[in-house]
Amino acid sequence: MKAKTKFIQGGRKAKNEARTINLPVIRASTVVFKNLAELEEIQKRFDAGEAVPTYGIANMPLRVAFEEMMAELEGGYRAVAAPSGLAAVALALMATVKAGDHVLMLDSAYGPARRFCDRTLKRFGVETTYYDPLIGEGIAALMKPNTTVVYLESPGSHTFEVQDFPAIARVARERGAAVIHDNTWATGRFFPSFEHGADLVIQAATKYPAGHSDVLIGAVVANEKWCPRLRQTAYDMGQHVSPDDLFLTLRGMRTMDVRLKQHEASGLEVARHLEKHKRVKRVLHPALPSDAGHALWKRDFRGAAGLFAIELDASPKEMAAFVDGLELFALGYSWGGYESLVVPAHMMRSVKPWKGGPLVRLQIGLEDTADLIADLEQSLGRLR
Ligand SMILES: *Cc1c(COP(=O)(O)O)cnc(C)c1O
Repeated sequence: MKAKTKFIQGGRKAKNEARTINLPVIRASTVVFKNLAELEEIQKRFDAGEAVPTYGIANMPLRVAFEEMMAELEGGYRAVAAPSGLAAVALALMATVKAGDHVLMLDSAYGPARRFCDRTLKRFGVETTYYDPLIGEGIAALMKPNTTVVYLESPGSHTFEVQDFPAIARVARERGAAVIHDNTWATGRFFPSFEHGADLVIQAATKYPAGHSDVLIGAVVANEKWCPRLRQTAYDMGQHVSPDDLFLTLRGMRTMDVRLKQHEASGLEVARHLEKHKRVKRVLHPALPSDAGHALWKRDFRGAAGLFAIELDASPKEMAAFVDGLELFALGYSWGGYESLVVPAHMMRSVKPWKGGPLVRLQIGLEDTADLIADLEQSLGRLR
């Protein structure tokens, strides 16, 4: 099946007794069985070899369907649902480290992922070193005997550096470290992380999979090697996702392919337009030939998200006037919904602090691009 068909057909194998196209929302803690024989039979059907009892937290049809869809999307062996994207980040790290280990994390990682390393992992005796996202095979020089995780996020948050993923993954694997990728920007549709050497892939399904700015949800997808540890860790931590949120996310995923392509096309059109504006110093969008990461993006990616940043030739005060002057772009965090958004880049960097002008992140939604461009033009016009 082609990807487009998989988004429609996936996750519907779960037995649907309601005979509806969408699996119904079943709210439950207890699942009731006729007798002990049936309890044991159903247990076997769901989770061969793993002692996870069937009750509200596990084996529920919507959760199974969502996990199937995420494993399919990312091209991994199996997925585990998490209550948010950040919870998925924490879960992937908890599943791969132990006291005394060392983690290599890119400098432009999603900020809260850095905080998880610097505060919580540190408390458990795990040390983190940040590396330049453009390090490539130079990562070898930072590997220590106790490095058990190399964490990537390509392109990076806010600054959109494209990493030489295969080169970094090769070094990590040679040294026996797990390769974790936060693939929220491209999703498996545009970047097949496992083909490039990932062991575990994080997806903030809050973004494009849910797609309507009303759900927080995440997933970690693992290859066969890491699947048992990932599942054990998730169950040990009691992570649960509400059936309503699973329902909304599955519904979002049915249209994800068409939405992604529209976000990509509209994003590029707006980015190309902004590139020509005299108050825009630089557009940080790897699908633009002018972008430093373009060659790697072209080599490894199959498409681009509608999320990028612009560096303004402006003072911080002018930047604020530009952000406040936009009418169609809502000001707020998170992204991946149908609407356009703007937010000043909020960066935590320790290896290479940002030295450029004010940086603003734009998410291009599904509105008509002519309206979006006109809005950006009128607000850029305030920069005098
Ligand atoms: C949004 C985001 C997350 C966190 O997702 P939440 O669901 O908001 O917790 C993680 N990684 C990246 C790259 C993100 O953009």
